[in-house]
Amino acid sequence: MALKFYNTLSRSLEEFKPLKQNKAKLYTCGPTVYNYAHIGNFRAYMFEDLLRRTLKYCGYDVIQVMNLTDVDDKTIRDSQVNNMALNDFTEKYKEAFFEDLKILNIESAEVYPAATDHIKEMIDLVQQLVDKGFAYQAEDNCVYFSIEKFPEYGKLARINLEGQRSGVRISNDEYAKDNVADFALWKAWTAGDGDVKWDSPWGEGRPGWHIECSAMAMKYLGKTFDIHTGGVDNMFPHHEDEIAQSECANGKKYVNYWLHCAHLIVNGEKMSKSTGNFFTLRQLIEKGFSGREIRWVLLGTHYRQQLNFTFDGIHAAKSALGRVDELIGKLKSIETSGDITETAQKLTDEMKAGFKAGIENDLTLSTSQGKLFDFVREVNKNLADLTKADAELILDALRDIDAVLGCLEVDEEEVIPAEVIELAEKRLQARADKDWALSDQIRDQITEMGYVVKDTPQGPQITKIK
Ligand code: AMP
Ligand code: ZN
Repeated sequence: MALKFYNTLSRSLEEFKPLKQNKAKLYTCGPTVYNYAHIGNFRAYMFEDLLRRTLKYCGYDVIQVMNLTDVDDKTIRDSQVNNMALNDFTEKYKEAFFEDLKILNIESAEVYPAATDHIKEMIDLVQQLVDKGFAYQAEDNCVYFSIEKFPEYGKLARINLEGQRSGVRISNDEYAKDNVADFALWKAWTAGDGDVKWDSPWGEGRPGWHIECSAMAMKYLGKTFDIHTGGVDNMFPHHEDEIAQSECANGKKYVNYWLHCAHLIVNGEKMSKSTGNFFTLRQLIEKGFSGREIRWVLLGTHYRQQLNFTFDGIHAAKSALGRVDELIGKLKSIETSGDITETAQKLTDEMKAGFKAGIENDLTLSTSQGKLFDFVREVNKNLADLTKADAELILDALRDIDAVLGCLEVDEEEVIPAEVIELAEKRLQARADKDWALSDQIRDQITEMGYVVKDTPQGPQITKIK
């Protein structure tokens, strides 16, 4: 089956045809580093991780660029509130962002360009637009993109420009569709910017947010590339403006496939920093949830549907992953000799084919997860008849799909702390002495330390509570 994505530009499902065979060039709008990213932001990064891993799983070499927006209206505003130099302020949140990516097992992009390291490229791009007549410097000294010069303006967000007053300008980075206007490419310095400024042919100032992404995308991926993504809120004005600037500067199509994820919501409202209804990843980890449980929740709803965040959802993730963990443990203890059986081969082949078909169909991971749980159920049913060779085959299949899921712990070696082992030995002695009260007390102590002891025919088995 062919890999298909829903392209926002055409509003339809399209077969993915990259510019270069077996290569996929991908630009993913990254974080504005003015605060800790919340899990709504991570929904977007998780969808992009699923996209990246799916492309790789389907045999593509991926080059992914994720920018770091370290200069814009919000970073300047909050660095000033905190009385810090812009770079010192954003550095803290850049570091936090990379730590969070690790916790969620989000694969690293090939390049993480920071906006402040690419001011020259941005100025060059603005200059090209001025030279070609698409941009002009206004009385406020800012340079604006003239949307009337680009008749295709609005093609991504599907905005009807008829009756649009020409020459209306907006200098904020973010604005609503109702305020569609000539937007700022270069913002002239004002006292509110403090010491954040760079020299340019139009005087001191700083780039607008939209030109940042165009300049960095082109530098690392070329004038036309395969896929560009972000949350739906990025579609307008950010991505619309990126298309306008880039296509006018280059005279070429900017991006072939635009993919947007729907929002993560809480109580029916978009999770966002401005409304304050957010959880950071750190807050959830402090509540005792693990990165892989949160990862499972963020992956669980199709990226084009809103994801309703609830704590019940994380508990459900914990039990779903627990079922797979349990199966992995059982498979590892199978010692029966013999060849791979027909049943195991068939179950495994069907699961892998079904898993791939799900993600190939516009990243419908829920279909793939469904196949996984059908498989877990069937393997459990047949467990008594499986050989060690079957178990290896099945574990390999789980490793294989984990290249996409990124949260099955097939090879996780559990290091049980010495104190826990010591307690388990004491408990064994208590049981030998038929001191059941002491044995139960030690079992509780072990549970409090985050482990469970199960008595099996091979002796007590200690596992970590996940
Ligand atoms: P920002 O740091 O605000 O520029 O946002 C970074 C990314 O997170 C963008 O792709 C946004 O579209 C995305 N985003 C922000 N809030 C949410 C949300 N509640 N659900 C999903 N994605 C979001
Ligand atoms: Zn962007």
